[in-house]
Amino acid sequence: MNNKENKPLTAYFCMEYGLDESFKIYSGGLGILAGDILKAAHDLDMPMVGIGILWRQGYDRQVIAENGKPMDCFPEYSYDFLKDTGVMVEVNIRNRPVKIKVWMCDQFGNVPLYLLDTNVDGNADRLITGQLYGWFNEERIAQEMILGIGGVRALRALGINPQVYHFNDSHPMFAGFELIREQMKYGLSFEKAKAKIRKHITFTTHTPVEAGNEKHDHVLLRYMGAYNSLNYRQVMSIGGSPFNMTVAGLRLSYMANGVAQLHGETAKKMWSYVEDAAPIIAITNGVHNGTWQDKNVYAAYKAGEGLLSAHMDAKRNMIDEIEKRNGIKLDENTLTIGFARRAASYKRGDLIFGNMDLIEPLLNQNKLQIIFSGKAHPNDLEGKAIVAKMYEMSCKYPNAIVFLQDYDMHIGAMLTRGCDVWLNNPRRPMEASGTSGMKAAMNGVLNFSVLDGWWPEGCEHGVNGWQIGSGYEGPNQDEHDRESLYNVLFNEVIPIYYDNKDKWEDMMKNSIAMSTEKFSAARMVNEYYDLMYSKCGE
Ligand SMILES: *Cc1c(COP(=O)(O)O)cnc(C)c1O
Repeated sequence: MNNKENKPLTAYFCMEYGLDESFKIYSGGLGILAGDILKAAHDLDMPMVGIGILWRQGYDRQVIAENGKPMDCFPEYSYDFLKDTGVMVEVNIRNRPVKIKVWMCDQFGNVPLYLLDTNVDGNADRLITGQLYGWFNEERIAQEMILGIGGVRALRALGINPQVYHFNDSHPMFAGFELIREQMKYGLSFEKAKAKIRKHITFTTHTPVEAGNEKHDHVLLRYMGAYNSLNYRQVMSIGGSPFNMTVAGLRLSYMANGVAQLHGETAKKMWSYVEDAAPIIAITNGVHNGTWQDKNVYAAYKAGEGLLSAHMDAKRNMIDEIEKRNGIKLDENTLTIGFARRAASYKRGDLIFGNMDLIEPLLNQNKLQIIFSGKAHPNDLEGKAIVAKMYEMSCKYPNAIVFLQDYDMHIGAMLTRGCDVWLNNPRRPMEASGTSGMKAAMNGVLNFSVLDGWWPEGCEHGVNGWQIGSGYEGPNQDEHDRESLYNVLFNEVIPIYYDNKDKWEDMMKNSIAMSTEKFSAARMVNEYYDLMYSKCGE
């Protein structure tokens, strides 16, 4: 397929990329989405370049310490497969020039990924690109200036002229300031410059929680040099005060998107107060089949036979690895539920433990095994308490509950292949999309989830998975969802698993059929080009 000719060249900006488990420049969902987009753009031969940061220490590595609490470490990484482009650009931060070296990752052929690095001789601030999401305020702004302003300058120095600049979440937003500055240098007024560059910017918003959207103080922005030759009135007109990065993204782009149909609606409501905002459409996330779908499971599905046994192979692989890691041997014939995500309280990892009188007998009688994995941001004490709690449960029920420390792409891939059921029960409507469920679905691991994120688009209850609750949002959402969780678990999931393996296998087939194309990164990338990028300049 050759799409080069009729599609606009798009520069995709993102703070993180999840490309491979050992390439530690990602933290979680946002980066995995960005990585899957580059991979799918490569498969489809789309004209795209990625812009990101070469994080020396990556995100944190989080292990459980002797006291049962999570502890963070920050090893340094280096990668010999990166190519030195020979290009060096500069950005003024706190009135000091910071040199930025530009590396290239060419693993995806037609879709090069350029990575910016301040770890250069002569820089006073070598560690700006040290830790992904490691610091706040000044340091976060500095990182975002490198990505946005440095990213545009790197493209210029490389001789790349994109027609579309895509900001994945608001971190790259300062690229908009740089594009305006360039036009003003050619003599355009601020208003004209903004109107002109806006026709070339698209933006994905992710966070349906107000507090999760970054805001910065104007005094600090100016001090850091983020104004980038614009003045207070101009910067204020873009992002308000305090400066809201998401609002700025909406005012600098011609089109924005949410990451699932439901999230698109949530985002529209959430930002409806913003004057002069770009229209928000919905493009549901997808995952890269080549990365996340088990080849043997998919082959068995295609062949129409052996699906259960292909699944059992994946399950045994997982059980073996868990034994190596944790010294605990799970039972391959026991219903195994997986729950792995960023440790945040709205994800309600302990919902299933709401009534231990019901759950404990299942755990003790070898009817149910639960595998948890998760990680909290180093500064998120509430998240760390959740990790500690998951670990504590695994100590209390060592034969039935497992906690895998340092959740990463490897664990994600292993669990979304090897578990029987994938549990997801966030408080609605706080999950923007949730791509781990798509990975599970493609492997015939049945989703058992509240109707949030992508699941309302995929779920046929009792056919390809199960819904928890009815989409109810209200004061006693926890009780409502917990009651439904138990109802479905006891009356549907457990009886089908133990007494009706044929039906289980049918549901696995339906899950794979439902997800393989509809929730693929290829479908998603085609939509990005058709619904957003191709409309640039209009
Ligand atoms: C897929 C994946 C995610 C994103 O999944 P969610 O459902 O949004 O939690 C996060 N982290 C890792 C390691 C993954 O593999």
